[in-house]
Amino acid sequence: MISKQTPTNTITFLGTAGARFMVSKQLAASGGLWLNLSGTELLIDPGPGSIVQSAKRKLNAEKLSAIILSHRHLDHSADVNVMVEAMTNGGFNRHGWLFAPADALGNEPVIFSYLKKFIEGIVVLEEGKSYSIGNISFSTPVKHVHPVDTYGMIFQAQGRNFAYIADTRYFEGLSEHYASELLIINMVLTEPRPPIDHLSVPDAARLIKEIKPKLAILSHFGLHVWQAKPWKIAEELTKQTGIRVIAARDGMKFDLAQMEEAKQ
Ligand SMILES: [Zn+2]
Repeated sequence: MISKQTPTNTITFLGTAGARFMVSKQLAASGGLWLNLSGTELLIDPGPGSIVQSAKRKLNAEKLSAIILSHRHLDHSADVNVMVEAMTNGGFNRHGWLFAPADALGNEPVIFSYLKKFIEGIVVLEEGKSYSIGNISFSTPVKHVHPVDTYGMIFQAQGRNFAYIADTRYFEGLSEHYASELLIINMVLTEPRPPIDHLSVPDAARLIKEIKPKLAILSHFGLHVWQAKPWKIAEELTKQTGIRVIAARDGMKFDLAQMEEAKQ
């Protein structure tokens, strides 16, 4: 049966692969997150294959209002150029914005200069700033600890909010910046592996316990997490934290209304 009310607040996972081996071998897809919040559509972190994954899932890039990069690493930005071209119908429908940290745009910019003319503008992400686009507002509360300029985001739409904790090492105070109802955590590692600046399973447990969201969704899995089966790790974290934790799957479309169902 087709529901009359189409979901208006959804997050589609165009990939769940994190870091080099998972992405190089495409053991999982790496296309980023596609948001549709109150009718405004945004693409976050278009890694390799974002164009393939979004087209396959019949998401129309021309509807995008913006593309947001948490940072310049390839698994988050590789398809930014082709997605700008798709968003603007090859430049014939000039619109949309690109948000990215300063070093993604500096002397080795991730976006080709000829494509910059296709969009309305580029906004540099900065610590502690808020931005609005269409019916959505989002903030980049804190600079992450990662080898390049990196920001996570908190999104607000229709009285709902959720946080996307992009790549980072765990650091004191991280959770204070991401108070939200729903947490999306890029969890690359099973165990902390200094000096690698990525979140691990124990880090995710700590964040969930500290932030106490209604629900946490794990994504961006490294090879060891993948081998340990992300859904098993999610079950374990649910037991450990008392908060429902799920593992994202490639193509999963999550409706923010499901947060309520998640509360136990
Ligand atoms: Zn990274």
